[in-house]
Amino acid sequence: TVGAVAVDSEGNVACATSTGGILNKMEGRVGDTPCIGCGGYADNQTGAVSTTGHGEAIMKVTLARLILFHMEQGQSVEAASDLGLAYMKSRVGGLGGVVTVDPQGNWAARFSSLQMAWAAAQKDTLHYGVYCGEHFTQSI
Ligand code: ASP
Repeated sequence: TVGAVAVDSEGNVACATSTGGILNKMEGRVGDTPCIGCGGYADNQTGAVSTTGHGEAIMKVTLARLILFHMEQGQSVEAASDLGLAYMKSRVGGLGGVVTVDPQGNWAARFSSLQMAWAAAQKDTLHYGVYCGEHFTQSI
């Protein structure tokens, strides 16, 4: 998967998600990526999310929309992302990763999978990293 979320100077948010699917997928499998609320969701009132991981699990919990629901309940981008991923793991046994942003520009790259490569660009600065099973995987 290659996923992206963005926020502009007026607080408009957007998400985009692209994938080749999973290895040995059944012919005709659609997967989570093109399904609204699963592979991604964006709402100017709350934020935007792009997801990757076990597509069947992501669809069962509508992961992107679930994370925005937690943000609507007052959770930060980090906490909402962690809550969504933790729920997906406990409820349906799925692992994955997400990038999340809110209209104020707060963002998070969180994952329950072993690793997820991410990058973040903010005006003139660029942050990037690959984390392998550090804080978040151990905390859920
Ligand atoms: N979520 C995708 C799928 O299950 C896999 C991926 O993250 O690339 O099709």
